[in-house]
Amino acid sequence: MGYENWEKALVENVETTISWRRHLHEHPEPSFEEWNTRAFIAEKLKSFGYEEIEEGVGGGGIVAYLRGSKPGPVIGFRADFDALRIHEETGLPFASKNPGVMHACGHDGHTAGLLSVAKVMKQYEAELSGTVKFIFQHAEEVLPGGGKSMVDAGVLEDVDYIYGLHLRSPLEYGKVTYCSGYAMAAPDFFEIKIQGKGGHAAYPHATVDSVVVASYVVNQLQSIISRQKDPKKSGVLTFSTFKAGDGANNVIADTALLKGTVRTFAPEVRDLIEEKISTMTKQICEAHDATCEVQYTRGYPALYNHEAETALIADLFTETFGEETVEETPLRMGGEDFAYFLQEKPGSFFFVNSGNAEKGIVYPHHHPKFDFDERALLLGGKCFLSIIDHYLTEKETSKAEASVTVG
Ligand SMILES: [Zn+2]
Ligand SMILES: [Zn+2]
Repeated sequence: MGYENWEKALVENVETTISWRRHLHEHPEPSFEEWNTRAFIAEKLKSFGYEEIEEGVGGGGIVAYLRGSKPGPVIGFRADFDALRIHEETGLPFASKNPGVMHACGHDGHTAGLLSVAKVMKQYEAELSGTVKFIFQHAEEVLPGGGKSMVDAGVLEDVDYIYGLHLRSPLEYGKVTYCSGYAMAAPDFFEIKIQGKGGHAAYPHATVDSVVVASYVVNQLQSIISRQKDPKKSGVLTFSTFKAGDGANNVIADTALLKGTVRTFAPEVRDLIEEKISTMTKQICEAHDATCEVQYTRGYPALYNHEAETALIADLFTETFGEETVEETPLRMGGEDFAYFLQEKPGSFFFVNSGNAEKGIVYPHHHPKFDFDERALLLGGKCFLSIIDHYLTEKETSKAEASVTVG
């Protein structure tokens, strides 16, 4: 029987999967510079018997095809493999040997987990009706990201459905979660330079006080969220940096620098906030005889999980793992460049909780002490197996009929 055998083989490969994860963890490489990581992935895929491998897709991505013996749909699975410029402080025996670089988002786990699925399924490819396209993506963490360039290079042209997962620490291990519709935000960034006219603090009338003008900007722009945006649609505007003056008591600051981030889901809210940041800042500055430069940088688009494919995996996972393991999760304000894949083809991005309070795995992603419970590698792998089973296994008549009725 298909799935049972695959699952057994995946379980048997757990120790190896963990050793791959630890190898990747020990040798992290930052976004766009993952040379050894890419070589490691390609070498593993070749060792599993893959012949149809594409390297350098969209710059640094790697793709491998698993072709079933019968025709059927093409399912894409994506895992990212870049690390972050963070100095690791976990003290783990397999901690980073590359100072200042760390796998602090779990991408080492995403890649090891998907490699394991690729290895196991290679033995069973003759059973399949259709194709699995394994997509290993470089540079998720740094704009413009590897996702967009891989999609632009046509990586999804022959793909019918696309799926991916993200580990989630420190949420306690044991659950797989899904979120239909908007699931992760579009993370944008802005920088505002306000040019006043510095001078003696005792003679404000002869100056243009950049601190006062910048304060108006910080305060007034809050009303974009509270008064201009549709309250039914989420949006966040945060000023994270306010720099002016040089420590003196008696000098009016010549310039002020503001930096911040915007998080949105609906494109019209994103457009509105971008436009208002620029026009309001200019008008406030004008009203106070200051000038300004506003720079707005768009990050990844919001990640939108397709309803039908999300409902499908929610059912599949529930069937495979039981109700107690599968849960709906609310949308989050973090960003993820898998959004580009989901703009192109139907699919869903799901989450495998990977914290473990007892083992001290309590730190969030991008923290120097970030870690995850390695049991999540197997759970995540099983999720992919159940998706393969759904799309690429010919079901007996009764089961097929049942799924038609449900669908
Ligand atoms: Zn990250
Ligand atoms: Zn990530």
